[in-house]
Amino acid sequence: MDYGDYEGVMGLEVHAHLLTESKIFCGCSTKFGAEPNSHTCPTCMGLPGALPVLNRKVVEFAIKLGLALHCSINPRSVFARKNYYYPDLPKGYQISQYEEPICGNGWLDIVMDGKTKRIRILRIHMEEDAGKLVHERTIDTSSYSMVDYNRSSTPLLEIVSEPDLRTPEEATAYLKTLRDILMYLEICDGNMEEGSFRCDANVSVRKKGDEAFGTRAELKNLNSFRYIERSLDYEIDRQIALIKKGGSVVQETRLFNAEQGVTYSMRGKEEAHDYRYFPEPDLLPVTVDETWVEEVRKTLPELPMEKMERFMKDYGLPRYDVEILASDRELASYFEAVLKLFPEAKTVSNFIMTELLRELKDGNVSPKDSPVTPARLAELLTLIKDGTISNKIGKEIFPEIYRTGASPRDYVKQKGLLQISDEGAIEGIIDAVIARSPKEVADFRAGKEKLIGFFVGQVMRETKGKANPALLNELLLKKLKA
Ligand code: ADP
Ligand code: MG
Ligand code: ZN
Repeated sequence: MDYGDYEGVMGLEVHAHLLTESKIFCGCSTKFGAEPNSHTCPTCMGLPGALPVLNRKVVEFAIKLGLALHCSINPRSVFARKNYYYPDLPKGYQISQYEEPICGNGWLDIVMDGKTKRIRILRIHMEEDAGKLVHERTIDTSSYSMVDYNRSSTPLLEIVSEPDLRTPEEATAYLKTLRDILMYLEICDGNMEEGSFRCDANVSVRKKGDEAFGTRAELKNLNSFRYIERSLDYEIDRQIALIKKGGSVVQETRLFNAEQGVTYSMRGKEEAHDYRYFPEPDLLPVTVDETWVEEVRKTLPELPMEKMERFMKDYGLPRYDVEILASDRELASYFEAVLKLFPEAKTVSNFIMTELLRELKDGNVSPKDSPVTPARLAELLTLIKDGTISNKIGKEIFPEIYRTGASPRDYVKQKGLLQISDEGAIEGIIDAVIARSPKEVADFRAGKEKLIGFFVGQVMRETKGKANPALLNELLLKKLKA
């Protein structure tokens, strides 16, 4: 998007739920969707006297992400109490990190229209999530709220970027790239509907060429890609219009109303919280030594961006393909598994991106659970390549093979779909078609060569699409030009 003489300036704060079995400071399960308040204990309910014990896995995941985002991993970091009152926060404070976070000074590269842009990461810190308020309205319209503490003390990483993003598209690209990395690392499921990946955006605008940043507004709780771009775009437009009218942007927290497509003020600066941060006295500073960092480094998988580069270089695939194939770790390994058995990258890529992904998306199935295994897909592609069936039939039977999990070779045999590559058989049909189409034959011979399509169509109809297309073309031309 273009904003004329102005430009947007955005820094994002992303909250990612971690895929640990248990919560950050107690042994309760982190499983989503359980009976309300069934995953609770004195610690995550904030009962007096209960003490937090840090989950080692959370630190490991923070180091993992820190390394993937090229951050420095601080040998010492400190938990702090962020004080505020809300019914979903039973202790009256959230345990977070403030002045001394676990990771700092990293970066993440995003690619837009083939161009790479580096977005700096300010910090990554560990913290606990709050519980959840459930609002109910009874029939007599009186309303009340209930609190579910299952989410209370679920581990989060907060990833804070520098204000390096300039357009809503860049912000979206940043979020998608970051989400892919979290999922690749298998430390977050990336589920936005369940709130496992949420974003607050700080937005300001300035005249192009200006050094100084403008005053920023904070947009809270952007939790769907569909709305993020729209809300940022709206907010940038709003601020520019305000400034052009001679007004000034005020520092405040705003929310996005998806129905009306507008942002509105939730609270101003004067109502802003003073969190009175101070070091958490119940937890020791976290120390991470070099050995631990190196241990974690060894577990890092190849990351999406590296994989994309490798797929382009080694397999000669276009960026469009690799962005789809490599953005999902499972899909990438599916692709490479097929390739081992059927080493024609573009053919495999095409089939996966169209036929396979359609089925997987329809059923919300992940590639590793695909009823058509990589071996089966390679089998199908081989049948097409060696001429046993036509490409068209290959695509047609795919949904059925997907549904039944049948072997493509058996299926084709059973249904009599073998491609007709027998010259005599095809010639017979061509002769019949030519005999009953004197007008088209005359037109073709008079120069209307486009009519070849008509003849191909006729023969294909007779053979139910099974005639070998290359052979059919060759024979047709020979007969028509004779
Ligand atoms: P706070 O603690 O008040 O949230 P931070 O300094 O931690 O403030 O910044 C939070 C986020 O705001 C960061 O992502 C940062 O990049 C972003 N940010 C800071 N200044 C601006 C600005 N003028 N315009 C847009 N984003 C900004
Ligand atoms: Mg903030
Ligand atoms: Zn608990």
